[in-house]
Amino acid sequence: MPWIDAYEQCPCNSGQKYKFCCEKLVQKPTKKVPYTIYPERFVVGIICRCSDGFKKYYDEQRHHIRENVLWAEDKGLAFGIDQRVTKTYKFGKLDSIVIRLRNVPAKVESATFIAHELHHLILDQRGFIGVAPVRIEFDYIASSLSSMLTDPIIQSELSTYGLDIKNDFIAECETSLRALSGLNEPSDQINRMHWVFNYVSNILEWEVVCEKHGYVENELVKYFDSMFPVIAEEGKQLYEQIKTYGFETPQKQKALIKDIVGRYDPKGKVIKAPF
Ligand SMILES: [Zn+2]
Ligand SMILES: [Zn+2]
Repeated sequence: MPWIDAYEQCPCNSGQKYKFCCEKLVQKPTKKVPYTIYPERFVVGIICRCSDGFKKYYDEQRHHIRENVLWAEDKGLAFGIDQRVTKTYKFGKLDSIVIRLRNVPAKVESATFIAHELHHLILDQRGFIGVAPVRIEFDYIASSLSSMLTDPIIQSELSTYGLDIKNDFIAECETSLRALSGLNEPSDQINRMHWVFNYVSNILEWEVVCEKHGYVENELVKYFDSMFPVIAEEGKQLYEQIKTYGFETPQKQKALIKDIVGRYDPKGKVIKAPF
């Protein structure tokens, strides 16, 4: 259920009440798409109206995404994740692109996060692995690998729209810190990789934030360095490799992903290899 009232003005900016406007276009969950799907203008209406940065971003960038995007409400997203984009394939063909949100319509505070998810798809259009093609059982690890090598590009490009990457970065670090408290370093390979990728991802994004906004303390990296030194050490080595190779073009990004997958998972199970 959306967080707005049925008799409130519809967030899509039509001037009508929600009940008589977008509510009629809501699609119930199906076997193929197990989420309630909302019209895009309903989901992004408030942030378009209340965030100039988002509005500018949306007007200039949205049309680059040529595929159909489904906007879903998903209360079951993992702790600390309030939105997420996934692409599924069936028989090698794109089946659906779904942007899942914990809350619909999107609140103005999530402007940067929503632009972030859209930008994953835009990088896809530019030839990057913006959203990893995944096998379900390795969903999160493939995502964390591709995110590691696309999030810094995304943050850097979003900041040119005046979208707030600094406070969002700090908020993300805080959420991750809360999620980590009381946890021990994982012992299985898949989870260790996930942690290493997240650690490196955080350093790479942090560099973008510092470059745009001056020095910002990175509490998450400090925490990892003192609590999980083995993961941090592994992360630092991977970071060095990434900095040496670079990932600023689709070709470089793909070569790097191939190399990392080869190094961490010789059976190539982590990411299906169309590249
Ligand atoms: Zn509406
Ligand atoms: Zn991302």
